[in-house]
Amino acid sequence: MKYLIIGGVAGGATVAARLRRMDEKAQIILFERGKYVSYANCGLPYYIGGEISDRKKLFVQTVEGFTRRFLIDIRTEQEVEAIDAEKKMVTVKNLLTGETYQESYDKLVLSPGAEPLRPRIEGIDCKKIFTLRNVPDTDAIKQYVEHEKPSRSVVVGGGFIGLEMAENLSLCGTKVDIIEMADQVMAPLDYSMAAIVHQHLVDKGVTLHLKDGVKSFEETATGVAVHLQSGEVVEADLVLLSIGVRPEVKLAREAGLTIGKLGGIAVNEFMQTSAPDIYALGDAVEVRHLVTDQPAMIPLAGPANKQGRIVADNIALGNKEVYPGTMGTSVAKVFDLTVAAVGANAKLLKRVNMYDVDYYMMNGVPNTAFTEALAFVFQKRDLEFLGVKDNDPEKKAMDVLDKVWTMYEITGVSMVDISVWKWLYAHPDATAEQLKEATIGIAKEVWNKYYAPVFGLKDETILAVYSHMIDTPLYLSAYAFGQIIEYQLDQYLEGKDFATEVERIFSQGRLTPNVWMKQATGSPLTVEPMLEAVRKVIKN
Ligand SMILES: Cc1cc2nc3c(=O)[nH]c(=O)nc-3n(C[C@H](O)[C@H](O)[C@H](O)COP(=O)(O)OP(=O)(O)OC[C@H]3O[C@@H](n4cnc5c(N)ncnc54)[C@H](O)[C@@H]3O)c2cc1C
Repeated sequence: MKYLIIGGVAGGATVAARLRRMDEKAQIILFERGKYVSYANCGLPYYIGGEISDRKKLFVQTVEGFTRRFLIDIRTEQEVEAIDAEKKMVTVKNLLTGETYQESYDKLVLSPGAEPLRPRIEGIDCKKIFTLRNVPDTDAIKQYVEHEKPSRSVVVGGGFIGLEMAENLSLCGTKVDIIEMADQVMAPLDYSMAAIVHQHLVDKGVTLHLKDGVKSFEETATGVAVHLQSGEVVEADLVLLSIGVRPEVKLAREAGLTIGKLGGIAVNEFMQTSAPDIYALGDAVEVRHLVTDQPAMIPLAGPANKQGRIVADNIALGNKEVYPGTMGTSVAKVFDLTVAAVGANAKLLKRVNMYDVDYYMMNGVPNTAFTEALAFVFQKRDLEFLGVKDNDPEKKAMDVLDKVWTMYEITGVSMVDISVWKWLYAHPDATAEQLKEATIGIAKEVWNKYYAPVFGLKDETILAVYSHMIDTPLYLSAYAFGQIIEYQLDQYLEGKDFATEVERIFSQGRLTPNVWMKQATGSPLTVEPMLEAVRKVIKN
């Protein structure tokens, strides 16, 4: 069989690696327009800010490493210009030589991603206005920062990339202004949670311009003048535009593939496009929102990775694996806050007339793990899980919840975390694999018991939540139990002393099992048995 893959980053690289595992004999060719494959976009802002100092760390795999390990024909700096779905043929341009050639396929995979929006407003072509999508964009910003030493930055757009860049541009020593059209940053959050982020940004010296947009840019002798709709003018030496992304669907559209009503490539539950031998995934496709059951564009790495595995399985084994939809699990670091979201926020639920969210009263939790986001809307279920009996939920529950919330805030602990720690304590000889299985099992149990009745969904939904974090180590550190898995992985890879790491985590106060175990279960627990259990796991 001959498989062609277009796009070599999150989705495309996953498909390539998995296809090789599924089919040892297949001919696999991966085309990537850029110079690099398989890198972590999520790390790019942190390389600019200096938190990731070694550029090599951005790359999950190099072209050479990928080729050697998976025997894949990787063709970087080669752009697929056309697809003939009838003849099952693509036209490719070698961007280095200008040469054009054709390549046939049995199955074709599209993972072309999405490009940053760059609206045609006056002055947009100024060289001091950047967007951030890939490694060359990152290098350009980093080089500009190092050589020009800007002292003022404007970030247009308060989504997660904008905020991560605001933090990192601050770390580079620039004074940052954020311009955002909406009344809040981070659209997946409800306003009360976003307000905490607003305050934190201001505390960190960032100036927020909400409910205001850019009218035009003007290059000046000293930098760029950003003219806002309100009439205000903000001066900057560097502007980062991060106002959203547009799916790259030109190829698909020109090939006659069906485009969905939100503008992404339409796929069925097997991630197959309207041409049966062409599959598509990642930022370029339209998915089903798992909560609202409506089409959605959710450009995140987790879904792209998961879809990548499903696409490879369906290509190799025939259409067996169904992609149920996307929950939109996302975690972002905003200075000292970890901001997480999953599912639909109350605003969206109300907009689609789905659930009565009268209990939506709590203020947000700055340091969250995924369950809080759900608990936020369905808080009574959390009370029940935590064993809190209360006959007057309208009044007293709020006090109790406040305590629970504070506890969450301090420890970053989730309902699943609590259960996993309980399990670990009861199984001190568990192996790492058993631990992982137990985590998934417990997460499923929590989901099925407490959330599935509300969402009307069963096991598969949990894949969007816990498997996401287990399979995507980058996000692990955002979760309490995730840190344990992360250090376990690190330990295997670099020979760190896991027990020391656990001690370090405890000492940071992020995981304080004694406190929350006591509150959650009524039984005190000391750190030592936990450490002992962990040491045993490591020895096995
Ligand atoms: C700065 C930044 C930070 C991010 N942080 C996070 C995060 O913290 N968490 C998270 O979940 N997500 C994050 N994302 C989003 C995440 O990176 C994307 O959702 C994910 O990469 C999508 O995967 P994809 O395969 O669909 O597209 P991409 O990873 O963008 O890959 C598409 C590739 O296809 C190539 N291509 C396109 N057309 C062609 C063609 N015709 N021929 C050859 N090659 C082609 C492109 O050059 C590109 O390299 C971030 C994104 C950015 C830009």
